[in-house]
Amino acid sequence: MVMQFLLIANIKCSGSLSGINSGDIADFVTYCNTNLLKKGAPSGGGAVIDQWNVAGEKIKLKLVSDRYVRVHDALLRLKNELTKLLGKHRIGLRGVEIEDYRILMDWDEDWQLKKLPFVKTLKQERGTLTLALDVDESALANRIPDRIVRLLEDKKEAAKWKGKSEHWELLFESEKKPFYFDKDPTEEMANRCWIRHAAGRGQFVYGPQITKIFRAFERILFDEIFTPLGYEEMIFPKFVSWDVWKRSGHAKGIYPEAYYVCTPKTRDPDYWEEVIDYYKVTNEVPVDMIMKRIENVGGMCYAQCPPSWVFLQGKTMPDDILPVKVFDRSGTSHRYESGGLHGIERLDEFHRVEILWMGKKEQVIEHSKQLRAKYRHIFDEILDIEWREAWVTPWFMAQEGKAGLAELREVGTIDYEGVLPYSAKMLEFQNVSVNGDKYPKGFSVKLQSGEQLWSGCSGVGLQRWAAVFLAQKGLDPDNWSEKFRSAVGELPEVFRFL
Ligand code: ATP
Ligand code: ZN
Ligand code: MG
Repeated sequence: MVMQFLLIANIKCSGSLSGINSGDIADFVTYCNTNLLKKGAPSGGGAVIDQWNVAGEKIKLKLVSDRYVRVHDALLRLKNELTKLLGKHRIGLRGVEIEDYRILMDWDEDWQLKKLPFVKTLKQERGTLTLALDVDESALANRIPDRIVRLLEDKKEAAKWKGKSEHWELLFESEKKPFYFDKDPTEEMANRCWIRHAAGRGQFVYGPQITKIFRAFERILFDEIFTPLGYEEMIFPKFVSWDVWKRSGHAKGIYPEAYYVCTPKTRDPDYWEEVIDYYKVTNEVPVDMIMKRIENVGGMCYAQCPPSWVFLQGKTMPDDILPVKVFDRSGTSHRYESGGLHGIERLDEFHRVEILWMGKKEQVIEHSKQLRAKYRHIFDEILDIEWREAWVTPWFMAQEGKAGLAELREVGTIDYEGVLPYSAKMLEFQNVSVNGDKYPKGFSVKLQSGEQLWSGCSGVGLQRWAAVFLAQKGLDPDNWSEKFRSAVGELPEVFRFL
């Protein structure tokens, strides 16, 4: 792909340049054009000073480059040299004003670009894209132009995947199982007052019966997985600050689904008095007034394991403690599911047990196989449900809009899906992911041996397990397997309503 960069910069100096021999500056420009701005570029490539002009205390430069030694890098290199040259005349550099920055590149995409950060104007015509950037010196030092080029490459990549369905490949399918129910379990539970829709969207209050069923699921995880495989429990944070999502990669795409968390700009009661008074007078919560007094600091738990990595951030572990196996079941997960809400199958607030293991590559892959064998036993022998396993687009690629990437056979996600007889649809009720070195790299966690640490995680959605199990077997324990019935025990009857 052909790419061209153009930059017009005005370099302000601390004194008049009239005393400097114009030949010296011409020599400097020649040195830049033949040597300094060519270093590291293939022959014929790199940057050049196309035009230059010295007037008063200012040097005006027009730089042109290809993708090698891009004009902003050229400017940096040249500034250092110029500082030395002017230093001899006791003149310093005061600052650089960027008059114009343009990127031109081939563009054969059949979709329209809308808006890009730091881009003033954007022109797409006759196979060429021209961007005029709104950048200052510090934006150039932060390599904003490079990041814009990378963003465009990302968008092209995402456009390729768009419209293609997510990768899905059957790995295993259980035997057919008898179904004892053909209704929607959420409705049936609501009828029996096992659950009631709560005040928030996609949120329920779970009564004693279904809570006991959730706890039985957890007990099965303890007996079949945590105890025999040597897991220990941890408590992961449930508020997630942006720094965590930057490191986990979620900051690249979580925005439409996040539950945002804000804190007061100050806890000074005077600052809040107006809000308090307004509420007292109207009985309405003045949301607009509140919005002006709070600031966003992150969001609620979305994927459960990311904030736990802060525990290991920047640490080095001895290899002999591997593989490490921990789990968290300490709180809720929150996602803004928009129109897709449906009963306990798709909630904005849900409960999940997150299982996290780490080790060397082979250990992590090997452990994912052990887990899959344990799950198979649970679903076949204890819950006795009809289910299947599928190899799907890993979450972090789905998040970045890349649907079908399946080349990765070691790193990736397996979804577990169960039949919902009442709707004839399949529901994903949990997953097993091998995340490769993504988290250890993101959170700078190292091994003493210098080998790369890997990790995997598995999210067991309690409501999703219940949705699949109850949809197939119904709410009557007589139709449950003996093993599951005894895991649950008596269903408590606490409330009655008139
Ligand atoms: P879906 O495709 O159904 O939206 P997902 O791919 O977004 O699911 P993951 O990000 O893999 O789900 O989350 C892991 C697990 O968390 C899921 O297998 C499921 O058990 C649970 N889960 C995710 N979203 C919800 C939700 N909105 N309500 C209830 N459980 C959920
Ligand atoms: Zn996870
Ligand atoms: Mg989802």
